[in-house]
Amino acid sequence: MTQNQAESVKFKEVKALDPVFSERIRIWRNATIPSVIEKTKETGRIDAFRLNWKEGMPNKPHIYWDSDVAKVLEGMAYALAHHPDPELEKLYDEWVDLIVSAQQPDGYLNTYFTAVEPENRWARLSFNHELYCAGHMMEAATAGWELLGKRKLLDAVCRYADYIDSVFGPESEGKRRGWPGHEEIELALVKLYNATGNERYRKLARYFINDRGTEPNLFTEAEQKNQQALGTPRTMTEAYGHAVRAVYLLSGMADVARLDQDDELMAACERVFENIRTRRMYITGGIGSLFAGERFTADYDLPNGSVMYAESCAAMGLVLFAMRMFNATGKQKYLDTAERTLYNGVLAGISLTGTEFFYTNYLSTDKHAPLYNMGAKTRQPWFICSCCPTSFSRFLPQIGTFFFSCRNDVVTLNIPAACEASLTLKNGTPVKLRTGGRYPWEGKIPVTVESAGHFTLEIRIPDWCEKYSVSLNGQDAEPRIERDWKAGDVVLLDLEMTPKWYRANPWSEDDRGRVALCRGPVVYALEEQDQECPVRELRIRTDRPVQIAPCPAGLPEGTPALVGEAYRERYPDDSLYTSEKPVREEVKFVAIPYALWDNRGENAMAVWIPEA
Ligand SMILES: [Zn+2]
Repeated sequence: MTQNQAESVKFKEVKALDPVFSERIRIWRNATIPSVIEKTKETGRIDAFRLNWKEGMPNKPHIYWDSDVAKVLEGMAYALAHHPDPELEKLYDEWVDLIVSAQQPDGYLNTYFTAVEPENRWARLSFNHELYCAGHMMEAATAGWELLGKRKLLDAVCRYADYIDSVFGPESEGKRRGWPGHEEIELALVKLYNATGNERYRKLARYFINDRGTEPNLFTEAEQKNQQALGTPRTMTEAYGHAVRAVYLLSGMADVARLDQDDELMAACERVFENIRTRRMYITGGIGSLFAGERFTADYDLPNGSVMYAESCAAMGLVLFAMRMFNATGKQKYLDTAERTLYNGVLAGISLTGTEFFYTNYLSTDKHAPLYNMGAKTRQPWFICSCCPTSFSRFLPQIGTFFFSCRNDVVTLNIPAACEASLTLKNGTPVKLRTGGRYPWEGKIPVTVESAGHFTLEIRIPDWCEKYSVSLNGQDAEPRIERDWKAGDVVLLDLEMTPKWYRANPWSEDDRGRVALCRGPVVYALEEQDQECPVRELRIRTDRPVQIAPCPAGLPEGTPALVGEAYRERYPDDSLYTSEKPVREEVKFVAIPYALWDNRGENAMAVWIPEA
């Protein structure tokens, strides 16, 4: 496992310049961050750290509130690292002061179980989100330390982690057994270990993973099924239970497996990832097929609306898991999943304004569909449980870090989105690169090496690409080039990006007889306002060509739409069942990137359309 291990690059090492992510990052900085800060204030989440809430007062704190504040604070750290802003920095410091002031003398730091139910501290780990909130606060603190050099919150969360470590652990050490009901602290403790070098945090992360699901089991049967405690994580063979919890646990498992050179634990991560990738993931990279329990169900069970779920946080979590798996193993299938999920399942969760969000990401909806997005059919600015908006606030700025991975003397171009990168390889070699082009809209991508030095440039060829070429300074080359690079060397990558119709495995009943249109890594959808008839009346003529066309008004300029031919199928009347044959008429259809749907008003939409 050792020689293949790589790292994603650091936030400050890459500046996105591409037409998709750079724009989303610009909007994140200008709109998402101010919006989530305002909501965090307005809903009382930040004031909860004053610990003065009393029965009868508005804005009763909730068990998961601290995690929202932590994620917004983490997003603020990225915003400050992205661009200095004295006013934002003042607010950041004030929030940190307030958060640290809520820490109890023993190190405990949780608003709800200090101000509202102090008698129930650690009383119901399976449900109470205390360790989950602690994990997010650790992530916020390590981001503040690594991006801004601010130590105050880091020191506070270290005291908190020390206290947690004094409470939970093996009974043989005189501690109490316990596992988080909502996993997250495992990966956060590894981050804290990486930031501080304190072995205690690494050991505690290992304990939470190794003790989970062992007998006597601490969770009820229902909790075991929903919260990944049916047996120990290292015996997992499939993804089960709550999807966000699952991918956070798996990310933590991958971190611990890598640190400990624990091949058995890494093998469990590989097995479960394979189960997700080949049987339990939407074509968009969305995961979690069932709203009830927000969870995975069975192989090939992927309903496109109605009962489905695909939480935005789960898509972001899958990217985090996939990137860890690529960096640990070097296997490109992990990048294929990460990329698919980033361009589709993740970006669909946030509006083009950066201020409205999907909690649940349907792949099909119409005027008869239930209110799926927490009581709405469109993106919303906030939710009572606002995990998704706050996740975006800290996830979007990290996207550039996924563009490259570095190991010893190898730099891998993971996602060829345009950017400027100034990296340092593990052997200390500095590497400056500039990726040009308009990926994912165009497949011709020049990569200019701007610094001299000896290293290997490895270019990922995506799974969706059947034909490609690579050249170096005009001469044919392989996707892996080791040489003494000179400043000005240009590698030209050319990925064929023909629109393609995809069909699902026949066991995926909800997709049978249907097709989905993709071009490159981007999944397309048909939104009703662009069609000549209701989406539900369309049957696609896949034998006819699909053309690239300018996108409809209201979507980002330069985004390619796809136009093709279909039949409109109508029945003589609107009875629920009929023995009549449908009447067909020829129509055109227009498809837009799935991630861009619902930016022009409430509308019907479908990714999978019946084939003629
Ligand atoms: Zn969420």
